[in-house]
Amino acid sequence: MKNQPIDADKTGLGQHYCVPCARYFPNDDTLQKHEKSKLHKRRVKKTQEEPYTQKEADAAAGVSAADNGKRGGLGRSNVNSDEVQMQ
Ligand SMILES: [Zn+2]
Repeated sequence: MKNQPIDADKTGLGQHYCVPCARYFPNDDTLQKHEKSKLHKRRVKKTQEEPYTQKEADAAAGVSAADNGKRGGLGRSNVNSDEVQMQ
């Protein structure tokens, strides 16, 4: 993130910010070193795997709306097994 407003209350005046880690660094050098660190890479990976991406995928597929109020899907799977037994 470049061209951020100067914030004197933050480390490095808020100019060197790592988005996935939500951390400020005192200068560009420490930020770049941080971006090569395992901690940062793990955080980036975790951010990419967060559940909201799945929710968005479901919403795009029209799953989410039909599923509202039936958390766990127990009722639905019972109906399905009843149908199987009647056949
Ligand atoms: Zn980071």
